[in-house]
Amino acid sequence: MLLRSLALVLSVVTFVSCGNKVQKTEVKQYVMALKQGDQSFKPILKRLIDDYNDHVGYQVIEYSESPDAANSPVLITKGLENRDGKVGWGQWFSQTERRGTSIPVPGQKTTETTTYSLQVEFDEDFLSSNQKEQSPGVMNLEIRKLFAHEVGHGFQMGHAPNERDIMYFDISGDKDFATYWPQVRGFFGLQ
Ligand SMILES: [Zn+2]
Repeated sequence: MLLRSLALVLSVVTFVSCGNKVQKTEVKQYVMALKQGDQSFKPILKRLIDDYNDHVGYQVIEYSESPDAANSPVLITKGLENRDGKVGWGQWFSQTERRGTSIPVPGQKTTETTTYSLQVEFDEDFLSSNQKEQSPGVMNLEIRKLFAHEVGHGFQMGHAPNERDIMYFDISGDKDFATYWPQVRGFFGLQ
């Protein structure tokens, strides 16, 4: 599948604050890399990202070999389930930078840029025990479910009340993605 590249999503809103125009920009650019954990999981991570982008229909996540070049780290932790009682975590972050004058100066533009990123963490044993392909060429469903759920949190989604929804707090058993992919596309302003 040929994906439309989506390196950057910008939404620009201009509003007037104390007579001064503020130009607001939102940047949703997610570059993921394995930051911590067994390096042999890199190919799986890359495949998960490709598979994810295929389902969205756009490249909403980029993969990098280098954690220094990424803003969205992936941690693979041994004993995570024992420690936290969960096989994964997903969080989102935002950072806002304001440039310009704090006291309005006529004709001077103030810009505000908010950049979003995420972090996910997975249990190493869960990944190891679910590495086997579902069918030739198709990744294991348990891993894809976990990845989609945690990245969903990374894209600011909360838990869904419907237990068949992939964003339900418990991802075991049959899940459907019917509302998930449209939600992801919506988050990026895509249709
Ligand atoms: Zn969750």
